[in-house]
Amino acid sequence: MEQHRAVVVGAGIGGLTAAVALHLKGWQVTVLERAADLAPVGAGIGLAPNSQRALDVIGLGDRVRDLAAWQGDGGMRAPGGRWLARTDAKAAAARFGGPLVLLHRATLVEILASALPDGAVRTGAAATIVDPGDDRRPARLATPDGEIEAALVVAADGIRSATRHTLFPEHPGLRYAGCTTWRVVVPAPERPFAPHETWGAGRLWGTQPLKDGRIYAYAMATAPAGGRAADDERAELLRLFGDWHHPVPEILSAVDPDQVLRHDVHHLPDPLPAFHRGRVALLGDAAHAMMPSLGQGGNQAIEDAVVLAHHAGPAPAVHPTRAAPGFLPSRALAAYTGDRLPRTTAIVRKAARTGALTMLAARPAVALRSTLVGAVSRFGPGLVLRGFDGIADWHPPVAPARSA
Ligand SMILES: Cc1cc2nc3c(=O)[nH]c(=O)nc-3n(C[C@H](O)[C@H](O)[C@H](O)COP(=O)(O)OP(=O)(O)OC[C@H]3O[C@@H](n4cnc5c(N)ncnc54)[C@H](O)[C@@H]3O)c2cc1C
Repeated sequence: MEQHRAVVVGAGIGGLTAAVALHLKGWQVTVLERAADLAPVGAGIGLAPNSQRALDVIGLGDRVRDLAAWQGDGGMRAPGGRWLARTDAKAAAARFGGPLVLLHRATLVEILASALPDGAVRTGAAATIVDPGDDRRPARLATPDGEIEAALVVAADGIRSATRHTLFPEHPGLRYAGCTTWRVVVPAPERPFAPHETWGAGRLWGTQPLKDGRIYAYAMATAPAGGRAADDERAELLRLFGDWHHPVPEILSAVDPDQVLRHDVHHLPDPLPAFHRGRVALLGDAAHAMMPSLGQGGNQAIEDAVVLAHHAGPAPAVHPTRAAPGFLPSRALAAYTGDRLPRTTAIVRKAARTGALTMLAARPAVALRSTLVGAVSRFGPGLVLRGFDGIADWHPPVAPARSA
């Protein structure tokens, strides 16, 4: 076994971040991606201060902040346009130690991939775990080029992770959350608007500016699993949101029906027993898929990646003369699970509670929700931000100082 070889399965946000973090620790990293290229879905992603601090650890935080739009003042609205609550970007940045930023997913993937050595990422290369290995035995994977061995495998194979099922076949798996989402990226509307998230009866719409003159809009509505519009998804969005406040109709008129992304929302309400088995560590949606209601799925994948590299430590056999401590998967990966499982379980549950609140459909419940949101925002603006306490204020672990 090559002692310092790490194989990452999946080149999404979590897998690429893990690859960069391990590369910086001297691991020889190969990323195997099933898709033919790295082009991610055409949508934006919000990165809160927690994941930006993780990106700072691998030297990419400033680049991300440079290429992202920093969230300005905005708030929550009712479908007719009434403001229910205002958000204060400065107060949020002061509370959590930095701004929330928004960028196109393709930009984030590009930044991450460019921090890897040439040839580290192989596309069109689906991989499956043959044996997770243990402290004495390497892990083995099946790849298009045959079987390979690795000292460490990072399974970042996304929400429908086959690795999750291989490692934990008894786990009940994904559950449909009762709602579906749409995402679009289009040129910004001519009439100005403030960033907003608007909650209606069993429906939600958000609009956020990107840095390049486009906007990222997302929508969610209760729907049976697997449903698709008989005509096209833009027509469906017009039926559901066409009479909502500015800028929603203007955005919909600019949307190319072929560019509308629609995904049903699934999550993992039952936590896995661990995020590792043998030499294989799960991360991101593979480990803890959550509803998008807190905008934390990708943020948590980035946190996972940096914490995993922290516990994996320097690559074992890269500096033989320096007698680097050996990599003991049972210890390193148990520490990773110990750090990440409780935190992400709490966030998965909070995302589910918030998602249920946003998807309330009965008129009296919706009216009560609007009244409460308005009251909370008037009498205690900090209360809205407090919902992100313990999430956006997270700091990455710091490597213990070497004893003299
Ligand atoms: C509507 C919506 C809005 C969201 N907004 C936000 C947001 O604002 N902020 C945020 O932080 N999160 C957000 N999320 C969540 C976020 O998109 C996910 O949590 C994040 O993309 C997960 O990253 P990942 O790397 O774990 O998985 P993915 O990005 O899904 O990557 C998995 C990769 O593994 C590959 N793969 C799968 N199987 C194999 C195999 N056998 N071999 C090789 N490769 C394989 C796939 O092709 C894919 O490239 C949102 C989600 C939705 C649905």
